[in-house]
Amino acid sequence: MRQYRYKHITIDAISIGGVENCYLLKDYKFAVDIGRGPQQVIEIPNIFITHGHLDHAAGIPYYFSQRSLKGKEPGTVYVPKKLKKPLNAILKKWHKIEGFQYSNTIKGLKHLSTVPLTEGYYIKCFESFHRIPGLSYALMRKTSKLKKEFLNLPGEQIKKLRESKKDIFDAQHICVAFFSGDTTIEVLEKYPEARQAKVLVIECTYIDDARPIERARKWGHIHLDEIIDKHKLFENEKIFLTHFSRRYQPSYIKEILNQKLPDEIKNRIEPIIF
Ligand SMILES: [Zn+2]
Ligand SMILES: [Zn+2]
Repeated sequence: MRQYRYKHITIDAISIGGVENCYLLKDYKFAVDIGRGPQQVIEIPNIFITHGHLDHAAGIPYYFSQRSLKGKEPGTVYVPKKLKKPLNAILKKWHKIEGFQYSNTIKGLKHLSTVPLTEGYYIKCFESFHRIPGLSYALMRKTSKLKKEFLNLPGEQIKKLRESKKDIFDAQHICVAFFSGDTTIEVLEKYPEARQAKVLVIECTYIDDARPIERARKWGHIHLDEIIDKHKLFENEKIFLTHFSRRYQPSYIKEILNQKLPDEIKNRIEPIIF
């Protein structure tokens, strides 16, 4: 895994399309996808799985087994609802194979489900557009903002209003980071959270004409040319491109990005490549 940073957001990541994908946000106590179960992810209590393809989900039995061996709390793996039953059946079989019973908690999520994390932060789910059921995940921060009508009042008066328990605040929900998982570009068109997230981690499986847009769409993925076509939609401060096909060498990816990306978006983009 390698570490990526933007302001106060630190992401430990590994990402190769079709091979292994895992993003870990230690400070917020969660990971998105588990890949093949890298050692670092065993320590994380909440894992959000975008979909059931093995490059994102293979490490689930290993995660529960390792946590049990280390005497840790079982941890919770959150999955798109349809995966809960088959995964529990698989885990039962692993208990038999391993010859010991360990506890595991798998929770099903659907479009717009929310899960509280650390103080003031929560995860919000969005249906993704892939070949099998999937979810994108947004790390949200809830804050409160003074209502418009009180904005110009002097501090003393605001203090009095607060003491009188008058409701002078509006809740504000800010998308801190958005993880697309495997999906077509619709995820960006449909969800303002994806466009406005401070940090966007978005898949970009294909980048050249050997695998054109139609092919990317057919397999439920995003092509770099679509990101370029729609680059005005991206309001994000930082955009990490991930899940590049393993057919591309890192130097080739850098070269293509450098050639093709328009200046307005280029300086906000960083590829996660291995
Ligand atoms: Zn994948
Ligand atoms: Zn997939």
